Amino acid sequence: GRNSLRFFDPVMQLEINRRSQLERKLRDAISLHQLELYVQPQISSDHQYVGMEALLRWHDPVEGFISPADFIPVAEASGLIIPLGDWVLRKACQILAEWSKVSGMENLTLSVNISPRQFRHLQFIDYIDSCLKELEVNPNHLELEITESLLIEDIDQTIERMNALRQRGLRFSLDDFGTGYASLSYLKLLPLNKLKIDQSFVRDVLIDVNDEAIVSTIIALGQSLDLAVIAEGVETHEQAALLENFGCHVYQGYYFGKPAPVAEWQKIISE
Ligand code: C2E
Ligand code: CA
Ligand code: CA
Ligand code: CA
Repeated sequence: GRNSLRFFDPVMQLEINRRSQLERKLRDAISLHQLELYVQPQISSDHQYVGMEALLRWHDPVEGFISPADFIPVAEASGLIIPLGDWVLRKACQILAEWSKVSGMENLTLSVNISPRQFRHLQFIDYIDSCLKELEVNPNHLELEITESLLIEDIDQTIERMNALRQRGLRFSLDDFGTGYASLSYLKLLPLNKLKIDQSFVRDVLIDVNDEAIVSTIIALGQSLDLAVIAEGVETHEQAALLENFGCHVYQGYYFGKPAPVAEWQKIISE
């Protein structure tokens, strides 16, 4: 009001403006189909392609590429993650339907990132059901990457939904493992298939003894809980060799291949 003291923080105001502008642009980009799904390969130590991770790319005609690290939080906060996430899931099923007909691609898993708000949305399971059915996709080939943030609230609902999806044949990977606040005791309650070692631990695994200890512990944990383990952000042969030594046999990272349009990887793999 007129007589009250007000704080004006120009930096905060800038951030608010930037976010609402980004939200408007994202809304348009979704309807104008300016988004694309790239894929990045997941490779086993015996040099087999075992899967791909789907990663959103937004190419703005003026600004160029806008990083999902910037626009996913905006989508999550505004609720746009629901139409956006639906688009990703449908696209992922289209890709799997196509791969089922291509020699060399038919056994690949496609991993899709699912944000907490999307996972909790009332129609989430129905939407997946309709995509799988309509596009005649084998649910075993669709993997959902969730994060520990999903475990902070309403763990019972999370487990119930995960079980419902597992019953349909879908798979679950716990992304960015070790960076969140989830208690380890949740791990045995969740119907997970896989742990994904966060790239922040992989980055310095050769030079930082703490990262080395964390990485080897996650791998051992996966082995004793009977969960597959994949390392992300693998950029060098030396990192892969150390991970392999510790017992991690699947990798994703620039050393093995960068995220690229589906057609590019399909060309490389099916040839
Ligand atoms: P993420 O799920 O942890 O994905 C891994 C990120 O690491 C990707 O960044 C990928 O391009 C990058 N990356 C892969 N290999 C390497 C490497 O060797 N070195 C380094 N330094 N980075 C590597 P990107 O594509 O920018 O995505 C950022 C984040 O945005 C993702 O992190 C994920 O949380 C989110 N995201 C991307 N696509 C989607 C989506 O379709 N839905 C949702 N909800 N989130 C998404
Ligand atoms: Ca991921
Ligand atoms: Ca990750
Ligand atoms: Ca991450």
